[in-house]
Amino acid sequence: MSYLDCHNHTAEWSDGRQSIEEILQRAKEEGVRVGLSDHTGLGDYLNSNDRLLAYADFLSQYPVARGLEMDLGRSFMVQEGVRRKFDYMIGSVHGIELHGMRIGFSPLIKYLKGGLPDYNPNQQIKDWDLFFKTHLEVLKKEFSEQNYSILGHCTMLPPLALGKPEEVFPEWWEEELVSALLMHNVAMEISNRWLTPYDRLMKKAVDAGVRFSVGSDGHDPQKTCVLDYPKEMIWKYGVKDDRIFDIQRKIQGN
Ligand SMILES: [Zn+2]
Ligand SMILES: [Zn+2]
Repeated sequence: MSYLDCHNHTAEWSDGRQSIEEILQRAKEEGVRVGLSDHTGLGDYLNSNDRLLAYADFLSQYPVARGLEMDLGRSFMVQEGVRRKFDYMIGSVHGIELHGMRIGFSPLIKYLKGGLPDYNPNQQIKDWDLFFKTHLEVLKKEFSEQNYSILGHCTMLPPLALGKPEEVFPEWWEEELVSALLMHNVAMEISNRWLTPYDRLMKKAVDAGVRFSVGSDGHDPQKTCVLDYPKEMIWKYGVKDDRIFDIQRKIQGN
Protein backbone atom coordinates (compact mmCIF):
# COMPACT_ATOMS: atom_id res chain seq x y z
CA MET A 1 0.00 0.00 0.00
CA SER A 2 1.30 3.45 -0.83
CA TYR A 3 0.90 6.11 1.82
CA LEU A 4 -1.65 8.89 1.50
CA ASP A 5 0.11 12.19 2.15
CA CYS A 6 -2.89 14.13 3.45
CA HIS A 7 -1.31 17.54 3.90
CA ASN A 8 -0.29 19.77 0.97
CA HIS A 9 -0.81 23.36 -0.12
CA THR A 10 -1.18 25.00 -3.51
CA ALA A 11 -0.41 28.52 -4.70
CA GLU A 12 -3.87 28.74 -6.26
CA TRP A 13 -5.81 28.33 -3.01
CA SER A 14 -3.50 29.19 -0.10
CA ASP A 15 0.15 29.78 0.71
CA GLY A 16 1.84 26.99 -1.26
CA ARG A 17 4.42 27.83 -3.92
CA GLN A 18 3.35 25.11 -6.36
CA SER A 19 0.56 24.13 -8.69
CA ILE A 20 -1.54 21.02 -8.26
CA GLU A 21 0.20 19.60 -11.35
CA GLU A 22 3.58 19.99 -9.65
CA ILE A 23 2.21 18.27 -6.52
CA LEU A 24 0.94 15.35 -8.61
CA GLN A 25 4.35 15.06 -10.25
CA ARG A 26 6.02 14.96 -6.81
CA ALA A 27 3.56 12.29 -5.64
CA LYS A 28 4.52 10.14 -8.61
CA GLU A 29 8.23 10.58 -7.92
CA GLU A 30 7.86 9.72 -4.24
CA GLY A 31 5.47 6.82 -4.82
CA VAL A 32 2.70 8.17 -2.62
CA ARG A 33 -0.91 9.14 -3.13
CA VAL A 34 -1.66 12.74 -2.39
CA GLY A 35 -4.27 14.84 -0.65
CA LEU A 36 -4.71 18.59 -0.92
CA SER A 37 -5.55 20.53 2.20
CA ASP A 38 -5.37 24.26 1.61
CA HIS A 39 -5.79 26.67 4.52
CA THR A 40 -9.36 27.39 5.54
CA GLY A 41 -10.61 29.75 8.22
CA LEU A 42 -11.77 33.24 8.94
CA GLY A 43 -8.35 34.71 8.10
CA ASP A 44 -7.85 32.75 4.88
CA TYR A 45 -9.01 33.01 1.29
CA LEU A 46 -11.14 29.90 1.85
CA ASN A 47 -13.31 31.65 4.42
CA SER A 48 -16.84 30.68 3.42
CA ASN A 49 -18.89 27.67 2.41
CA ASP A 50 -19.25 29.08 -1.11
CA ARG A 51 -15.49 29.22 -1.56
CA LEU A 52 -15.16 25.70 -0.16
CA LEU A 53 -17.60 24.51 -2.84
CA ALA A 54 -15.45 26.12 -5.53
CA TYR A 55 -12.35 24.46 -4.03
CA ALA A 56 -14.08 21.05 -3.93
CA ASP A 57 -15.07 21.48 -7.60
CA PHE A 58 -11.49 22.31 -8.49
CA LEU A 59 -10.10 19.29 -6.60
CA SER A 60 -12.65 16.94 -8.16
CA GLN A 61 -10.95 17.42 -11.55
CA TYR A 62 -7.76 15.76 -10.26
CA PRO A 63 -6.85 12.31 -8.89
CA VAL A 64 -6.26 13.61 -5.36
CA ALA A 65 -7.81 13.20 -1.94
CA ARG A 66 -9.91 16.24 -1.10
CA GLY A 67 -9.04 17.80 2.23
CA LEU A 68 -9.02 21.07 4.12
CA GLU A 69 -6.78 22.48 6.82
CA MET A 70 -9.08 24.42 9.12
CA ASP A 71 -7.52 27.08 11.35
CA LEU A 72 -8.66 25.97 14.81
CA GLY A 73 -9.82 28.91 16.94
CA ARG A 74 -10.56 30.92 13.78
CA SER A 75 -12.80 28.36 12.15
CA PHE A 76 -16.28 28.65 10.70
CA MET A 77 -19.02 26.05 10.52
CA VAL A 78 -18.74 23.97 7.37
CA GLN A 79 -22.22 23.05 6.17
CA GLU A 80 -22.91 19.33 6.10
CA GLY A 81 -23.44 19.20 2.34
CA VAL A 82 -20.15 21.02 1.82
CA ARG A 83 -18.29 18.81 4.27
CA ARG A 84 -19.46 15.72 2.37
CA LYS A 85 -17.62 16.95 -0.73
CA PHE A 86 -14.34 16.54 1.14
CA ASP A 87 -12.68 13.27 2.13
CA TYR A 88 -11.37 14.73 5.37
CA MET A 89 -10.78 17.89 7.32
CA ILE A 90 -7.51 18.54 9.16
CA GLY A 91 -7.74 20.95 12.08
CA SER A 92 -4.54 22.79 13.04
CA VAL A 93 -3.75 25.47 15.58
CA HIS A 94 -1.77 28.44 14.18
CA GLY A 95 -2.30 30.85 17.07
CA ILE A 96 -3.82 30.99 20.56
CA GLU A 97 -5.83 33.68 22.26
CA LEU A 98 -4.61 34.40 25.80
CA HIS A 99 -6.02 37.20 27.98
CA GLY A 100 -7.97 38.49 24.96
CA MET A 101 -4.83 38.77 22.86
CA ARG A 102 -4.00 36.53 19.94
CA ILE A 103 -0.53 35.00 19.94
CA GLY A 104 0.15 34.00 16.34
CA PHE A 105 2.74 31.33 15.63
CA SER A 106 4.34 33.02 12.59
CA PRO A 107 7.49 34.10 14.53
CA LEU A 108 7.87 30.50 15.76
CA ILE A 109 7.47 29.18 12.22
CA LYS A 110 10.04 31.68 10.91
CA TYR A 111 12.42 30.76 13.72
CA LEU A 112 12.06 27.01 13.11
CA LYS A 113 12.69 27.54 9.39
CA GLY A 114 15.88 29.46 10.18
CA GLY A 115 14.50 32.84 9.11
CA LEU A 116 14.70 34.41 12.59
CA PRO A 117 17.93 34.27 14.62
CA ASP A 118 16.13 34.12 17.94
CA TYR A 119 12.62 33.76 19.30
CA ASN A 120 11.67 33.70 22.95
CA PRO A 121 7.98 32.98 23.60
CA ASN A 122 8.38 33.77 27.30
CA GLN A 123 8.04 37.43 26.40
CA GLN A 124 4.43 36.89 25.34
CA ILE A 125 3.45 33.84 27.35
CA LYS A 126 3.91 34.20 31.10
CA ASP A 127 1.71 31.36 32.29
CA TRP A 128 2.51 28.10 30.48
CA ASP A 129 -0.11 26.06 32.34
CA LEU A 130 -2.73 28.47 31.10
CA PHE A 131 -1.30 28.24 27.59
CA PHE A 132 -1.54 24.43 27.49
CA LYS A 133 -5.01 24.42 29.07
CA THR A 134 -6.23 26.95 26.53
CA HIS A 135 -4.78 24.88 23.69
CA LEU A 136 -6.70 21.80 24.86
CA GLU A 137 -9.89 23.81 25.30
CA VAL A 138 -9.67 25.00 21.69
CA LEU A 139 -9.27 21.40 20.48
CA LYS A 140 -12.11 20.02 22.59
CA LYS A 141 -14.49 22.79 21.52
CA GLU A 142 -13.63 22.41 17.84
CA PHE A 143 -13.81 18.59 17.89
CA SER A 144 -17.23 18.61 19.50
CA GLU A 145 -18.61 21.20 17.06
CA GLN A 146 -17.76 19.65 13.71
CA ASN A 147 -16.32 16.69 11.93
CA TYR A 148 -12.52 16.79 12.02
CA SER A 149 -10.60 13.74 10.84
CA ILE A 150 -7.04 14.78 11.67
CA LEU A 151 -5.22 17.04 14.11
CA GLY A 152 -2.41 18.73 12.12
CA HIS A 153 1.14 19.23 13.49
CA CYS A 154 0.03 18.97 17.13
CA THR A 155 3.26 20.17 18.76
CA MET A 156 3.95 23.07 16.41
CA LEU A 157 3.50 25.35 19.41
CA PRO A 158 5.71 28.10 20.91
CA PRO A 159 7.26 25.82 23.61
CA LEU A 160 9.16 24.11 20.76
CA ALA A 161 11.48 27.12 20.74
CA LEU A 162 12.40 26.58 24.40
CA GLY A 163 14.18 23.24 24.27
CA LYS A 164 13.76 19.51 23.74
CA PRO A 165 10.06 18.65 23.40
CA GLU A 166 10.23 16.04 26.21
CA GLU A 167 11.39 18.81 28.53
CA VAL A 168 8.98 21.58 27.55
CA PHE A 169 5.69 19.75 26.90
CA PRO A 170 4.07 18.61 30.17
CA GLU A 171 2.97 15.01 30.49
CA TRP A 172 -0.51 15.98 31.71
CA TRP A 173 -1.00 17.89 28.44
CA GLU A 174 0.14 14.87 26.41
CA GLU A 175 -2.29 12.61 28.23
CA GLU A 176 -5.26 14.96 27.84
CA LEU A 177 -4.40 15.47 24.18
CA VAL A 178 -4.35 11.72 23.55
CA SER A 179 -7.67 11.20 25.32
CA ALA A 180 -9.33 14.07 23.39
CA LEU A 181 -8.20 12.51 20.09
CA LEU A 182 -9.54 9.12 21.13
CA MET A 183 -12.84 10.49 22.37
CA HIS A 184 -13.52 12.34 19.11
CA ASN A 185 -11.93 9.76 16.80
CA VAL A 186 -9.45 12.26 15.40
CA ALA A 187 -6.14 10.99 13.98
CA MET A 188 -2.82 12.50 15.06
CA GLU A 189 -0.79 13.73 12.11
CA ILE A 190 2.81 12.60 11.86
CA SER A 191 4.31 15.60 10.16
CA ASN A 192 7.46 15.48 8.10
CA ARG A 193 7.76 19.25 8.09
CA TRP A 194 7.49 19.76 11.86
CA LEU A 195 8.91 16.41 13.04
CA THR A 196 5.93 15.91 15.27
CA PRO A 197 4.93 14.04 17.38
CA TYR A 198 8.17 13.51 19.29
CA ASP A 199 8.96 10.08 20.78
CA ARG A 200 7.31 10.23 24.21
CA LEU A 201 4.05 11.60 22.80
CA MET A 202 4.12 9.14 19.90
CA LYS A 203 4.51 6.23 22.31
CA LYS A 204 1.62 7.40 24.49
CA ALA A 205 -0.60 7.80 21.44
CA VAL A 206 0.33 4.35 20.08
CA ASP A 207 -0.24 2.67 23.46
CA ALA A 208 -3.63 4.37 23.84
CA GLY A 209 -4.80 3.23 20.38
CA VAL A 210 -4.86 6.62 18.64
CA ARG A 211 -4.91 6.58 14.84
CA PHE A 212 -2.36 8.49 12.77
CA SER A 213 -2.19 10.26 9.45
CA VAL A 214 0.93 11.13 7.50
CA GLY A 215 1.66 14.53 6.02
CA SER A 216 4.51 16.37 4.37
CA ASP A 217 2.79 19.75 4.85
CA GLY A 218 4.31 20.49 1.47
CA HIS A 219 4.41 24.11 0.35
CA ASP A 220 7.07 23.77 -2.34
CA PRO A 221 8.05 20.90 -4.67
CA GLN A 222 11.29 20.16 -2.84
CA LYS A 223 9.56 18.96 0.35
CA THR A 224 6.15 17.98 -0.98
CA CYS A 225 5.35 14.27 -0.57
CA VAL A 226 8.56 13.61 1.38
CA LEU A 227 7.52 11.34 4.26
CA ASP A 228 10.81 10.24 5.83
CA TYR A 229 9.90 11.19 9.40
CA PRO A 230 6.40 9.62 9.35
CA LYS A 231 7.79 6.41 7.85
CA GLU A 232 10.51 6.26 10.48
CA MET A 233 8.03 6.78 13.34
CA ILE A 234 5.58 4.20 11.92
CA TRP A 235 8.38 1.66 11.68
CA LYS A 236 9.88 2.51 15.08
CA TYR A 237 6.57 2.15 16.93
CA GLY A 238 5.20 -0.72 14.85
CA VAL A 239 2.07 1.17 13.77
CA LYS A 240 -0.12 -1.18 11.73
CA ASP A 241 -1.58 -0.12 8.37
CA ASP A 242 -5.12 -0.18 9.73
CA ARG A 243 -4.19 2.51 12.27
CA ILE A 244 -3.20 4.92 9.50
CA PHE A 245 -5.79 7.31 8.12
CA ASP A 246 -6.82 6.65 4.53
CA ILE A 247 -9.79 7.20 2.26
CA GLN A 248 -12.08 4.70 0.55
CA ARG A 249 -12.13 6.38 -2.85
CA LYS A 250 -9.62 5.21 -5.45
CA ILE A 251 -7.20 7.89 -6.53
CA GLN A 252 -3.93 7.99 -8.46
CA GLY A 253 -1.35 5.44 -7.32
CA ASN A 254 -3.77 2.93 -5.80
ZN1 LIG B 1 -0.68 24.27 9.49
ZN1 LIG C 1 -0.39 23.07 6.36
